[in-house]
Amino acid sequence: MSEARALYEQIILEHNKSPRNFGPLDPYDRKMEGFNPLCGDHFTIYVRLKGDVVDAVSFSGAGCAISKSSASLMTTILKGKTIAEAKALFERFHRMITSDPDAPVDEAALGKLRVFSGVREFPIRIKCATLAWHALNAALEGKDEPVSTE
Ligand code: ZN
Repeated sequence: MSEARALYEQIILEHNKSPRNFGPLDPYDRKMEGFNPLCGDHFTIYVRLKGDVVDAVSFSGAGCAISKSSASLMTTILKGKTIAEAKALFERFHRMITSDPDAPVDEAALGKLRVFSGVREFPIRIKCATLAWHALNAALEGKDEPVSTE
């Protein structure tokens, strides 16, 4: 395993052990549930907005290490982003994680999210890594139907 890969795994495990922004937001503006029946991951994403800027994001629920650490990391990078920027980040993350495992990763565009690039080698885990993002995206779009990866 490369040094970068080892470091990335460490970050994922650390977020799984000590998730950031864990627990409901009070007050919140948007809330969205997300399910990944394939793995049993189930999270609720809470978003607080100031105009069209993300003021805070949190999550609750349970899931595997990949889904939980992805939700945790996501909540740490969205504060201060506009809704459009947050959605663009989701698109970029989704494009990266569904790309060929050997495709280069645009580290500048992805920032910390690049730690999930290793997930590309495990297609079954892609839904785990993107679950919180799908729920976030639906919340930002103002949808009220829970999100399922199936
Ligand atoms: Zn999972």
